[in-house]
Amino acid sequence: MTFTSKTTANSGHAPSWYAASARDKRVRPRLEGQVEADVCIIGAGFTGVSAALELAERGYSVVVVEADRIGFGASGRNGGQIVNGYSRDLQTIAGRYGQDKAAKLGAMSLEGGRIIRDRVKKYGIDCDLVDGGFFAAFTEKQVREMEAHRAHWQKHGHDGLEMVSKAEVGNYVRSGRYVGGMIDRLGGHIHPLNLVLGQAAAVESLSGRIFENSRVTSVEKGAKPLVRTERGAVRAQYVLVCGNAYLGTLLPEIGGRMMPVSSQVMATEPIDPQLIRRLLPANYCVEDANYILDYYRRTADDRLLYGGGIGYGGQDPKDLTAIIRPNMLRTFPELAKVKIDYAWSGNFALTLTRIPHMGRLSDNVYFSHGDSGHGVTTTHLLGKILGEAVAGHAERFDIWSSLPNLPFPGGKRFRVPFTMIGAWWYGLRDRLGL
Ligand SMILES: Cc1cc2nc3c(=O)[nH]c(=O)nc-3n(C[C@H](O)[C@H](O)[C@H](O)COP(=O)(O)OP(=O)(O)OC[C@H]3O[C@@H](n4cnc5c(N)ncnc54)[C@H](O)[C@@H]3O)c2cc1C
Repeated sequence: MTFTSKTTANSGHAPSWYAASARDKRVRPRLEGQVEADVCIIGAGFTGVSAALELAERGYSVVVVEADRIGFGASGRNGGQIVNGYSRDLQTIAGRYGQDKAAKLGAMSLEGGRIIRDRVKKYGIDCDLVDGGFFAAFTEKQVREMEAHRAHWQKHGHDGLEMVSKAEVGNYVRSGRYVGGMIDRLGGHIHPLNLVLGQAAAVESLSGRIFENSRVTSVEKGAKPLVRTERGAVRAQYVLVCGNAYLGTLLPEIGGRMMPVSSQVMATEPIDPQLIRRLLPANYCVEDANYILDYYRRTADDRLLYGGGIGYGGQDPKDLTAIIRPNMLRTFPELAKVKIDYAWSGNFALTLTRIPHMGRLSDNVYFSHGDSGHGVTTTHLLGKILGEAVAGHAERFDIWSSLPNLPFPGGKRFRVPFTMIGAWWYGLRDRLGL
């Protein structure tokens, strides 16, 4: 039986392979009545929990309020790929915002992966961490683009990238689809739900409090903001808004600056260990270079976890497997008889610039969102930077918040069709190999 899920459900984790293999199944209490804290954090995904851990380590009292469960959103459903950098490459960032900003963002771009590895080690988080990622190219043009990225990245101190010739592709993935690629030795993969649950437990070990099933219904700004949930409230010195694509209408002033976009993932049944090791010999995660890309990897129990697809506006396709399975079979025809055990969907937040958006809603209410599908490392970095800003070290926060963020053209009504037209055009270019 395949378990499928919708992104909008508000009743516990999506029925994913991650939820089935979560190591910590404790349900945290609902917030009842009013509590006080130095910092109230809205949303227990990577961003919120990363900020909470940074602050708890610095000695702040933190309360995290989560509408559903820890890792309910994209953080507990994603491909688990540790991809360094941002959703736009550093050349584009330099072209748009200047060399100085690119250098500053470049200097931070490997930090998210380091934060993950440091915390996994420090708190003994069991989340199946494996090193190494492979970017797969379908065309010579994509190979040339990767080579340009590699050269540019090297200038920013990233020496973990290495080009892979067509003859060497089989060392990483046995599929006839690719003409070459690039490896990132500083990439890797994790069980994302166990990573966020492990960090949440670390927050609690430092006296942080996390409330689940506690949707925030309003934020009253002021000298000591009041965050109200359905049955309680938090009075705090600072509020960090980390609801990302699931924030809904809570704070329309930032909601309109990002668009929820869904992506779909499925997990096969456990595959004969010899076969899965033959298909992915190095156990690197793989993402291809198309605009609407496929991403996949082995799991610790020898399943293939395969993602792709896209739903602008956060729409879920009716039959998730029917979208993803044909892509998997194009990559690995030998899996035709393998069953699909789980299929699920999740929403990430897209910004028009494809660059995360951070800022202040008032002197003491800060937000971060919009990792644009490339958030496992970035959210860890930006959560830490939110924590630093609260602690009075806002230099890095100010770099991010100075980047212009534009609303989607077409307003609420037409932003989805306009974006779809753009994506269709880029998808067509990929299909034509242009
Ligand atoms: C299917 C999928 C695959 C992906 N694969 C990858 C990948 O392999 N590599 C990669 O780098 N990135 C990937 N991403 C992107 C990455 O997962 C996200 O960028 C990242 O997890 C976002 O984390 P977050 O904490 O900002 O948001 P989320 O994890 O979505 O957390 C937001 C939380 O806020 C809560 N919330 C919202 N509103 C309220 C409220 N009013 N009150 C209380 N709580 C609230 C939500 O319930 C949710 O738990 C993927 C995304 C998806 C959807």
